[in-house]
Amino acid sequence: MDDNSGTSAQPASGAEVERQRMDVDIVCVGFGPAMGGFLTTLSKQILQPDGTPAIESSALPGMPLQVLCYERADDLGFGVSGVVTRARALRAGIPAFETAGIPMAAPVSKEKVVYLLDPIGASRRSMALRAADKLIRASRWVLPFEHGGLELPWTPGFLRKQGGWVLSMGQFMQWVGTQVQGTGAAQIWPGTPVASLLIDDDTVAGVRLLDQGVDKQGRPAEGFMPGMDIHAALTVVADGPVGHIGRQLDTHFGLPDGHSRRDWAVGMKFVVDLPADTSLQPGTVLHTFGFPEPEIFGFLYVHPDRIASLGIFVPSWFDSPMRTAYRYLQHWMLHPYLHRYLRGGRLRSWGAKTLGESGRRGEPHLAGNGYARIGEGSGSTNVLTGSGVDEAWATGVQLAEGVLELLRTKKTFFQRELGTSICPAQAFELGRSRGPRRGKVPGRFPSWGGLRNARHGPGRSNRRTRIGPWRAIVSP
Ligand SMILES: Cc1cc2nc3c(=O)[nH]c(=O)nc-3n(C[C@H](O)[C@H](O)[C@H](O)COP(=O)(O)OP(=O)(O)OC[C@H]3O[C@@H](n4cnc5c(N)ncnc54)[C@H](O)[C@@H]3O)c2cc1C
Repeated sequence: MDDNSGTSAQPASGAEVERQRMDVDIVCVGFGPAMGGFLTTLSKQILQPDGTPAIESSALPGMPLQVLCYERADDLGFGVSGVVTRARALRAGIPAFETAGIPMAAPVSKEKVVYLLDPIGASRRSMALRAADKLIRASRWVLPFEHGGLELPWTPGFLRKQGGWVLSMGQFMQWVGTQVQGTGAAQIWPGTPVASLLIDDDTVAGVRLLDQGVDKQGRPAEGFMPGMDIHAALTVVADGPVGHIGRQLDTHFGLPDGHSRRDWAVGMKFVVDLPADTSLQPGTVLHTFGFPEPEIFGFLYVHPDRIASLGIFVPSWFDSPMRTAYRYLQHWMLHPYLHRYLRGGRLRSWGAKTLGESGRRGEPHLAGNGYARIGEGSGSTNVLTGSGVDEAWATGVQLAEGVLELLRTKKTFFQRELGTSICPAQAFELGRSRGPRRGKVPGRFPSWGGLRNARHGPGRSNRRTRIGPWRAIVSP
């Protein structure tokens, strides 16, 4: 076993500790949209309507399948997280989606892409872009130009979210968690970080939970409780773009030949109460580019009850050492095009999150002996559009369907079975980006150039592909 696995181990103090052990069938790491899709699908099919097991547990014979999910955040859906999504996979997985009363959800009602000119002359604009800005200002009377922003007359297809939904991921994930736990088929434990995987040679045997009650150096302190070892036939890893459990897999098993993960964008978000007299309607979606730097994208989504989620992405290919996302967010909000909506508003919460931008080149091994990966850590995010909720959910659904098939046919979760049996034929049409957004981006509008790079990637255009990483397993 790895040095940090087994039934007793060395904590940072060097002392041996006895760890409790629990055996289950499936243990899951992280409760984001990918795991939402996995557990929603699984939980519908492992119990009969009368509560008796449809699939029996191997860990506890006679009982239904034992499924545990650990989430490190203090509660489910704790992230600051307004998103807009086409929600095709979500709606397919949750038939009552539109009438379910998911808090803070609104159908997309209006969508605009806005080029923000530099109102203060402080951004790093090329000569060509400055000249273009001058031309736009000179012709502003005949253009859809207001408050320093040029509204594009159309929304490019790859950004279009008409028919989709504005969601608070926090509220949505709490809602999903309640539905899953309400079935009694799976338990979700928030506030319980997974410290590491239990790896036995080339097989993942489960997870070790984080020790509680330690000091800053990791030494046992008052209330010390060693993290439990959870042994499972299958460990599902869905710990997001830079989760350390995913990285433990990458370190132990390596990445597929020619793959690397080096590209991450930083996203900063605010959730605000808009002023009482706001003209923005629920479901409004604004995408911006051009300011505070040409490479930086902005977004503003309006939820019901005058609440908006807004923020920026600082992309991986932004070649300035001044990557102060928080300051850029402030500059962006002060742009006259946006500030007219935000002046007098009230900040509710804020936060930052990473977005993987390595595209297919960053795709890890998706399954091995005893483990499978879903969601952004498996490379599901659409780099082209910066969207990944629907895509992550779809990978979870697909894995669940494959796992159910393996369970019904009493197969094991070794790489051979996982790799060849669990790619269901059904699939959602979701755009996937093949290449990373890396390197210096040519062109007058670096933000569009970066998207173009992402779109065309290493030599192949990003035609809409049938989803996703799980397909890649059977057709490498
Ligand atoms: C600023 C920003 C804006 C975005 N906007 C959109 C948008 O508008 N539309 C869209 O579709 N997508 C958007 N995305 C992308 C989207 O958020 C992700 O693609 C999606 O959340 C990925 O889902 P996931 O389940 O794979 O991972 P995550 O949502 O990252 O969930 C992973 C979960 O695992 C937990 N976890 C991690 N490590 C551990 C551990 N060791 N133990 C236990 N739990 C752990 C985390 O706490 C987290 O809850 C945005 C991303 C960013 C950064």
